[in-house]
Amino acid sequence: MSLAHLLLRQAQLHPDRPAIHLGPRRWATHAQWAGRSAALARRLTEAGLRPGDRVLLFMRNHPRYLELLWGLWWAGLVAVPVNAKLHPREVSWIAGNAEARWAFTSADVASEPLAGVPVQIDVDSPQADALLAEVAGTLSEPFDAPPDHLAWLFYTSGTTGRPKGVMLTHRNLMAMGLTYGLDVDTLHAGDAMLYAAPLSHGAGLYAIPHLMAGARHVVPESGGVDPEEMFALGRHHGPLTTFAAPTIVRRLVEQALAEGLDPDHAARCFKTIVYGGAPMYAADIRRALEVMGPRFVQIYGQGESPMTITALSRAALADVQHPRWAERIASVGVAQTPVQVRVADAQGLPLPPGELGEVLVKGDTVMAGYWRQPEATAATVRDGWLFTGDMGVLDADGFLTLKDRSKDLIISGGSNIYPREVEEVLLTAPGVADVAVVGAPDPEWGEVVVAFVVAAPGTPLDLGELDAQCLAQMARFKRPKRYVVLDALPKNHYGKVLKTELRQRL
Ligand code: AMP
Repeated sequence: MSLAHLLLRQAQLHPDRPAIHLGPRRWATHAQWAGRSAALARRLTEAGLRPGDRVLLFMRNHPRYLELLWGLWWAGLVAVPVNAKLHPREVSWIAGNAEARWAFTSADVASEPLAGVPVQIDVDSPQADALLAEVAGTLSEPFDAPPDHLAWLFYTSGTTGRPKGVMLTHRNLMAMGLTYGLDVDTLHAGDAMLYAAPLSHGAGLYAIPHLMAGARHVVPESGGVDPEEMFALGRHHGPLTTFAAPTIVRRLVEQALAEGLDPDHAARCFKTIVYGGAPMYAADIRRALEVMGPRFVQIYGQGESPMTITALSRAALADVQHPRWAERIASVGVAQTPVQVRVADAQGLPLPPGELGEVLVKGDTVMAGYWRQPEATAATVRDGWLFTGDMGVLDADGFLTLKDRSKDLIISGGSNIYPREVEEVLLTAPGVADVAVVGAPDPEWGEVVVAFVVAAPGTPLDLGELDAQCLAQMARFKRPKRYVVLDALPKNHYGKVLKTELRQRL
């Protein structure tokens, strides 16, 4: 069985129910969605694509994103959804690594052709219309995917500076989808999922549980996060569910305050706001609960176990009378149903409650491995346990609190940035002798990128030039927001930069 069978089932049971909306307007019923996806599958197969081949999606949020995803799965193909904010150079690298044979792009994000991808289709072109045009007659049977068949190759930036392809199977995503209804929220056919956060990430994966329930899917016309539009769509479609990084939650709260909306109004617009992807300050969630009422659920996951490590339920967040409420709202909740979660020492042995260690996860949502990287896979998944790189503490009731990351990762506005990637780009600028990049706490973004730079002797350092190098070589959101020029970087005896010391200086 594949994820495409979920769509076939809805098309058979409720063909005429609205399924996809673009803003307030209806885009497709379940029958139309299935018809278009099945037709795409047939045409891609006729064009020579075979189950297991990779197809890249590099586009803004668009209703066709869902039709394309399910069309690829209908044919047994592997989707490679790429962050729309990446630089074309970064995307070309991913396309080459995945050996993508086709790519679907939108002109606003793909400003130039992707090197090395034989077929590239603009999602708004007549060519795309033709590929997705329904074919008369009964729907074909989707590809009968074995459980370990790849569905989604999710590129995450790596500590090595190059992204790694996380291999997610149909079984992984099916387990993720099924557990949503148990651990995150109850689902009904009348629900509607709003995609303001990128469909190429976790928000897009939430299309799976919503399709399982036969619910509606709403893509905002802006294609992104616009709090005013999000509230307006809530008023139009009825209470929506959405996934929001903490930065977006903060913006929604500000919008509610600016419009003078009370929690009852927020309840008419939003059934559930699932937040996660980056740490949420306890003060921020308290304020969000006050302003918007009990409509929040937190999840903690990572690409390697998508959306599914722990969840902090609506009930736990709302239980203000509980003696440990203050600690609990600062936690990420308890293990989701399909996974075991452990806090372990450096050897992977479980630690007792209250002790700090690395968070380990085991279960059906854990990735099949990194694409063509057996060493990295062996280092990250040992005996079935995924070593997340996150540091945390479990309490006696099983609530996990994240403390730190053992990796150097910076999370700014919910987007991951690996310092090494930024450092490598800065080192290509003239006049730079040494560089170290760290995250500085920021009330709006969670963290911002700060670069400590040492100038080469005798060469004037032009900070404008550094910024230009960043713009030319990587996604805008990874650029340092601040530069600090030093005579030398603090280093230990082995020459390793003391990043903790740099963070303290900030
Ligand atoms: P990604 O692989 O892009 O989904 O990023 C995953 C990382 O984001 C995790 O390993 C955590 O460090 C962080 N993260 C995800 N969810 C949460 C959360 N609810 N609270 C704090 N950090 C989180």
